[in-house]
Amino acid sequence: MPIFEFICSKCEEQFEELVSSADSKVKCPFCGSARTEKQFSAFSSSSSSGSHGGGCAPSGGG
Ligand SMILES: [Zn+2]
Repeated sequence: MPIFEFICSKCEEQFEELVSSADSKVKCPFCGSARTEKQFSAFSSSSSSGSHGGGCAPSGGG
């Protein structure tokens, strides 16, 4: 069974749950609320490289 990551809409806690179906409803193990939303894992991260070199900004203090 695949593991889906859920987030609670009540306590905003994230947890993983083994669900047989992707459209299954799970309860929050923290507060017990049924208002949980399935999160989508990021398989591939889109990142573009090869840009102009940036500058380092000095931090002013004093
Ligand atoms: Zn919760």
